[in-house]
Amino acid sequence: MAFLPSQLTKKRPTSEISYELEKRRTIEQYRTGTLSIHDVCDAHPELLRSAHNYSFKQAGDCPICEQETLVTVSYVFGPRLPSHGRCVNSERDLDRIRKRKGSFTCYEVEVCTSCSWNYLNRAYPL
Ligand SMILES: [Zn+2]
Repeated sequence: MAFLPSQLTKKRPTSEISYELEKRRTIEQYRTGTLSIHDVCDAHPELLRSAHNYSFKQAGDCPICEQETLVTVSYVFGPRLPSHGRCVNSERDLDRIRKRKGSFTCYEVEVCTSCSWNYLNRAYPL
């Protein structure tokens, strides 16, 4: 369940993909006991570091621990960027990448800095 940017490099969407339905299913499986807290709150240390240092504050409470500690970590993949993606934390950074030649894809991951819940929310071409 843990999100790792390196898992994303093979298939990139050509239009926006929302993972909202899968996320709701995962939360429901946690609430009914099919998944344990260890299954859903397993953010990789690298992702947690990005969540603390390079993220956008997200509205709403964590679906697992119900704290106001949700953030969005955005990774961009594309030509002349690191193979594990570039973590961006501002619209200005995204705009700078949009102006470059080539096609770029942004992946937004929801992370709770309190309980380590993490889920890929959406992916879209820049
Ligand atoms: Zn949480």
